[in-house]
Amino acid sequence: MKRAPHEVTEPQDAEARRKIRPVICYPVDTLPRPDLAAYQAARDGWEKVDEVVVPPREARCFRVPAGSFFRIVSIEGPQVGDLNLWSAGDVNERFFSGKTRALHGTHLSTGDQLWSCLPYLRAMATITHDTLDWYGFDEFGGSVHDVIGTRCDPYTHKLLSGNEYHHCCHSNLTRALSERLGKPKQEVEPAVHDVLNVFMCTGFTRDTGQYFMKASPVRPGDYLEFFAEIDLLGALSACPGGDCSAEHSSDAAVCHPLLVEVYRPKAPPAGWASPARNGYSRRHED
Ligand SMILES: [Zn+2]
Repeated sequence: MKRAPHEVTEPQDAEARRKIRPVICYPVDTLPRPDLAAYQAARDGWEKVDEVVVPPREARCFRVPAGSFFRIVSIEGPQVGDLNLWSAGDVNERFFSGKTRALHGTHLSTGDQLWSCLPYLRAMATITHDTLDWYGFDEFGGSVHDVIGTRCDPYTHKLLSGNEYHHCCHSNLTRALSERLGKPKQEVEPAVHDVLNVFMCTGFTRDTGQYFMKASPVRPGDYLEFFAEIDLLGALSACPGGDCSAEHSSDAAVCHPLLVEVYRPKAPPAGWASPARNGYSRRHED
């Protein structure tokens, strides 16, 4: 799709082929759905048990036991956050943004779940409230909380600019995980993975299909709330792009801290059980 018609001739039935209607790759009618009402009811009388402030251009780790909730809260000013999630006992089980996107679409909101990588493939967390759900999709095709971007990283930055920058989200997440696990940065770096871009407003341009960003609509007091389906280790980076209205991977943008709050309900949601690992036998037979 690079618009080089001088090199490629259209077949006679080109328009007819284009007119074929799309089908959804992964219909989710058979996907077990979380009982959102039960989750939301479990918030009554909950207790805040932890709070972590993520400084601008840095990342911090946090723990959330299965059956508890956490919120990522905007404080002080518009700021985008890059979220990584691991199974607390095993960082090999990590958030799988690609399959989450295939199941729930390009941008997540209330009721969507964050799935873990193969061979685990189970719900790690469920989004239980999103104060930016009103945004929908704008006239440019942009929306909030995407699973289409990856994370700003110093390798792409080096390719594009030739310079070194050490406070990209990838590096921030690497430092935070290194500190939490007490292991060298190079050892934990491969566990850092594609993120949920919390509060970021993104899409693809209609003409070239390029990934775009625009100023986040988030304001102080907004939050994205999750229910932990399994014991979670999380890491959140306050992106050096700030509200991502202009650029990232530099110290130019105005940046703000983010707040992570962890809440323990009086009792788990009615009928809820922490999901087991995916049931596929792993025989891969021919
Ligand atoms: Zn970033």
